[in-house]
Amino acid sequence: MKGRVGIVGAGLAGLTAAISLAERGFDVTVLYNGKLEDSNSDKIQAGIALPILDGDSISLHVIDTLKTGLFMNDIDAVWNIISKATEAYDFLRRLGVNFESVELEGGHSRPRVFSIRGETGKHIMKVIRERARELGVEFVNKEIYEVLIKNNECLGVISSDGHEYLFDSTIIASGGYTGIYRYTAGFRGNLGILIGDYIRKGGIAMDLEFVQFHPTAYVSPDGDVILISEAVRGRGAIITDSRGNRFVNELAPRDVVSRAIYRKLLEGEKVYLDARNVKDVEKSFPGIYEALLKKGLDMKRDRIPIVPVAHYSIGGILVDLYWRAPTRRLYAIGEAAASGFHGANRLPSNSSLECVVGGLEVSRTISRDLEKLGRLKDINLETVRLRNPSKLGNIDRLRDIMWSYVGLERDSHNLMIAERLVNELDILPQIKTLALAIIKCAAERKESRGVHYRRDYPYVDERLKGHSLFARGECRIEGIKRHGV
Ligand SMILES: Cc1cc2nc3c(=O)[nH]c(=O)nc-3n(C[C@H](O)[C@H](O)[C@H](O)COP(=O)(O)OP(=O)(O)OC[C@H]3O[C@@H](n4cnc5c(N)ncnc54)[C@H](O)[C@@H]3O)c2cc1C
Repeated sequence: MKGRVGIVGAGLAGLTAAISLAERGFDVTVLYNGKLEDSNSDKIQAGIALPILDGDSISLHVIDTLKTGLFMNDIDAVWNIISKATEAYDFLRRLGVNFESVELEGGHSRPRVFSIRGETGKHIMKVIRERARELGVEFVNKEIYEVLIKNNECLGVISSDGHEYLFDSTIIASGGYTGIYRYTAGFRGNLGILIGDYIRKGGIAMDLEFVQFHPTAYVSPDGDVILISEAVRGRGAIITDSRGNRFVNELAPRDVVSRAIYRKLLEGEKVYLDARNVKDVEKSFPGIYEALLKKGLDMKRDRIPIVPVAHYSIGGILVDLYWRAPTRRLYAIGEAAASGFHGANRLPSNSSLECVVGGLEVSRTISRDLEKLGRLKDINLETVRLRNPSKLGNIDRLRDIMWSYVGLERDSHNLMIAERLVNELDILPQIKTLALAIIKCAAERKESRGVHYRRDYPYVDERLKGHSLFARGECRIEGIKRHGV
């Protein structure tokens, strides 16, 4: 055994890393929250963006990513990730993933989204879990509340019931923080607890104010959220008001479509997705079709009432090109990480690509780093030290505050209200720290860029073209890029 690696999160990023590390001879433990199938990766609909077909190219995909990200992306991260698309494809194919179609999504100049009937994640995650089990990866069902850091070195993690788990290297792959918003189609347990804990302990997070909202979700009267993938619009579905009038280009970037819908809703209008003209909609998107049918809506016959929902956290733990956090022995991948790949907005289906590429790359990084750093001494999987269990607190109230005051449109007045309300809230300190950090960065960015929209500054300010870095209670907007341009 070359070393013991702990991974928090059993999504696409975490399990890709787990497989890659186990195949290299590491002893791997994956800690996860809720059910194994609860990850956002299981919910991936359209698929994974891979620029590998005839007529496509790495540079075209790079340009689409930069355009959608409003050129706030780190150019090295963008080239680095996209040029490893063939590696990601080979990895998934080797595991037995059979893609069935290649779709066009908004912002992509070519059809390049490799898909399986609008429920791509379900199929990928099934084979990926099987392979991880075959390799002897250990799965531990524990919610993790803390990263254990001493002298700028990560020694492992601590669970909500107070157990310490020690590892030679620790990877945070716990997804984003869309679960702190009232409406999300994602896993409600993705609360960004470890991002909050890391910054509480002096770590650095990047771009926390950039939260992507997905324009087309159905929220049922009983509160279930069903996301209707961009690929449905790619096949010709339109967005209309109650009179059947179109009011937005359905394939414009998500932030543009989401805000157009949000404003109609604020005017008291109802907004619909009309997929009645999409040929074989029930065969092309069986997961979405069936889920809506269970709620009494038939996409072949009915217009579907829609609202935007919190969908993707662009911000997260700052990482370098090799997925290292600024703390020794600590790494972050997937939606928990901020690599600079997405810039101010995420191109659809780029996040699954980032998850696979990051998972494969971090295993190489850990192999190199452990040769240099050596193993930590006297590691047991679960040490005897038990701390006091902690409580989550009033998470539903937080979700309402974030939705109402730090959502699709922000302004300084609402952000001040949000700060006061969050400060007064009885909630796990890790989550409070994260929410306040998001609010601080949203207040600091006095402009509108990509998914961050300020009613009181509804324009781009070129002086603020740079990432926000949150550390030690302060949010600072960088005037320069991290990896060139
Ligand atoms: C409905 C929907 C459709 C989507 N469709 C697409 C698409 O077509 N293409 C695309 O590229 N992206 C899509 N996305 C985005 C994509 O799903 C995610 O960005 C991606 O799956 C993130 O993967 P991950 O491995 O980083 O995290 P996740 O898949 O979210 O996994 C997080 C893991 O961490 C665990 N966890 C969280 N907190 C803790 C904690 N405190 N302690 C222990 N474990 C914890 C969870 O249990 C889970 O196992 C979609 C998202 C949604 C919600």
